[in-house]
Amino acid sequence: MLLEIQKLTKSYRATDGTEAIAVLRDLDLQVDAGESVSIIGPSGSGKSTILNIIGALDRADSGSVKVDGREVEKLSEANLATYRNTSVGFIFQLHHLLPQCTVLENVLVPTLALKRDNAAARVRAEELLASVGLQHRLHHKPGQLSGGERQRAAVARALINEPKLLLADEPTGALDRDSAARLIDLLVELNTKHGITLLMVTHALDLSRRMKRVLELRDGQLVAV
Ligand code: ADP
Repeated sequence: MLLEIQKLTKSYRATDGTEAIAVLRDLDLQVDAGESVSIIGPSGSGKSTILNIIGALDRADSGSVKVDGREVEKLSEANLATYRNTSVGFIFQLHHLLPQCTVLENVLVPTLALKRDNAAARVRAEELLASVGLQHRLHHKPGQLSGGERQRAAVARALINEPKLLLADEPTGALDRDSAARLIDLLVELNTKHGITLLMVTHALDLSRRMKRVLELRDGQLVAV
């Protein structure tokens, strides 16, 4: 099993500090390597919170998250940084590409912290950009790309360090219909052809159905749809 979540709880305190709102309540989730899973649910139900905890961008109140056999909460600060950079890839609703860097440079950013062969990283970045259909955009700046192209560059960046798990938080949320469909085609292809395990959060039911398994976040727990 690649991802195993047990009894995850998370609550947020209201800004006036009075009352804690439970977002996740004893949530369990198991994802095998090679699966594609979508999580649906209305805005504010806690979907991003789940991904942020898996990606170690946020902490749960209690419960455990194991990725590839390692318990995320037990990682040291140094190991956490490596975990965020190499074990999981993240795609957000907005691409978060650096505007002053070219597409190729953006894809290489996550490799900078690793002591790896720069030439090999560059070859891999170019291959990845070709596989997302951006071989002709390597030296463009993000501002010169369409929204869909920017998201595909973000996918390449998320995959550069060969993570086992790709987390996608509303990846099509800022795209028009056609670009959204193309991005989902790409994610499906990464999963089916390259075996990348995919966990995607969306509120779009039609897109969620493109994943092999659909779960709904309801009252802080995940239920099969
Ligand atoms: P979704 O992704 O399903 O839209 P989120 O996970 O973003 O939902 O948020 C779930 C709930 O937790 C919402 O009610 C949101 O307001 C609250 N929330 C999220 N992050 C914070 C935070 N940092 N502080 C306080 N409340 C938060």
